[in-house]
Amino acid sequence: MISLSGLCPEQIVTSFPFLPGFRAKQIFKWIAKGAVSFDEMTDLSLDLRKDLKNRCTVYSSAVSQKLEDEDGTIKLQLRLKDGSEIEAVLLSDAENRRTACLSTQAGCPMACAFCKTGTLGFHRNLDASEIVEQFLYLKSLHKDISNIVIMGMGEPLLNMEELHQAVSVICHPLGLGLSRRRITVSTSGIVDGIRKMAEHGPEIRLAVSITTADEELRSKLMPVNKSNPLPLLKEALLYYQKKQEKRITLEAVLLGGINTRQQDADALVSFAKGIDCVINLIPWNTVDGLSFEGKRLIEPKNLEVDNFLTQLERRGLNVTKRSRKGRHISGACGQLGSINTV
Ligand code: SAH
Ligand code: SF4
Repeated sequence: MISLSGLCPEQIVTSFPFLPGFRAKQIFKWIAKGAVSFDEMTDLSLDLRKDLKNRCTVYSSAVSQKLEDEDGTIKLQLRLKDGSEIEAVLLSDAENRRTACLSTQAGCPMACAFCKTGTLGFHRNLDASEIVEQFLYLKSLHKDISNIVIMGMGEPLLNMEELHQAVSVICHPLGLGLSRRRITVSTSGIVDGIRKMAEHGPEIRLAVSITTADEELRSKLMPVNKSNPLPLLKEALLYYQKKQEKRITLEAVLLGGINTRQQDADALVSFAKGIDCVINLIPWNTVDGLSFEGKRLIEPKNLEVDNFLTQLERRGLNVTKRSRKGRHISGACGQLGSINTV
């Protein structure tokens, strides 16, 4: 059965031609305001509500677990209609701005060496309703969520159509009306996807998980690099910037003793040259059982992170450091998928 949470008003009409346009708009507004059942939609007649219940659902997923970290981070685990489990996270910063971190796939096919989700393998793409519902569930906990990052489980640019549809719903002026500039999608570096985004949108902000710009090391840490090597990735980013004229974030998860060498800083500086970008350093968050070339992965020391940051700044790059949130509930970057996922 189709769920309405993933549709714009115009698409509700296409799916149910017996519904007049104004009814579709009413339903759409109810869902955006947080209604989870047709019974809450009190301006629809009882007969219409009954009819709709037989044909479709409002939501397709359910919350199966809620975890709260002492730092204010909340992680929701959702059960999807086929029994898969995915996770979505609500982060709050020092100024009390709230950001929703959403997943686009159950599991992930990219197998990055440092990421929990990567160890799960790929289960399936989420549909738009399953992406929108993560946001709606988080919004039911806190009304004022100002930003979205598509940085949860999965590689978003391998699920572009559903992501695009979900963005259309979330940004629709009759509903949640979030500005596209407040949404950032992070990719492991899918060149085709970046080019498609440059051409057809969605017109949201782009972040790329560069990790290291040392070609050989990147291929070992991120298998995606073998088929999407750095020169092609850079070309795609320059093309994106020509079309979209938006600053890109290059994310680098820092793995203790691995990609914080002088040559990694040099390579990053040369990769970033000519790209309008900010570098976001993410100290690696522990995932038990992960190793690289026979050695257990470790978190970088504070000094190691600061030295790396200074090296980049000295060479003229804009650098920020991501704060560590949600680590007690395995809700931080790269830790999703810890409770029974997939
Ligand atoms: N699949 C997308 C988005 C989800 S991952 C991508 O890879 O870009 C979001 C970010 O978390 C990425 O920048 C990734 O490099 C980083 N990450 C993965 N595992 C991590 C870990 N254990 N600690 C810190 N960051 C991690
Ligand atoms: Fe997938 Fe991103 Fe994790 Fe890599 S870092 S395995 S692309 S979720």
